[in-house]
Amino acid sequence: MDAHSVHGHCFCGNIRFQVSGPEKFACFCHCESCQRAAGAPIVAWATYARDTFSIEQGAMHWHDSSPGVTRGICGDCGSSISYENKQRPGEIDITLNSLDDPTAPTLRAHIWTEDKQPWLRIDDDLPVYTRTVSE
Ligand SMILES: [Zn+2]
Ligand SMILES: [Zn+2]
Repeated sequence: MDAHSVHGHCFCGNIRFQVSGPEKFACFCHCESCQRAAGAPIVAWATYARDTFSIEQGAMHWHDSSPGVTRGICGDCGSSISYENKQRPGEIDITLNSLDDPTAPTLRAHIWTEDKQPWLRIDDDLPVYTRTVSE
């Protein structure tokens, strides 16, 4: 697939950004940090090259949520937009549901299912990882 611009925005629309698609990877994350950051039982992420990410409008609030991890959120509406981990330099994860077209990325796995809420049932055929894909 050829590289193309992927656009997205937060809930209130103050922040608009772009990255270059297609995504390198996309997954459902069940980790407790994502649950707390989003106030949701699960967050779908797509991974892109960090140097293709740019903010077109507004100012991101950067939250250092755990050692080596920075999350980008809108300071006005609270939308969870991005995730960067120093262990994966050169990459940025974007919440699928911040994209103008959340259906574009192909979800490929469930990760961090050791933190999964017991009442959430996984009902697809994607691979399941207790922690990260590499572990
Ligand atoms: Zn916003
Ligand atoms: Zn997570």
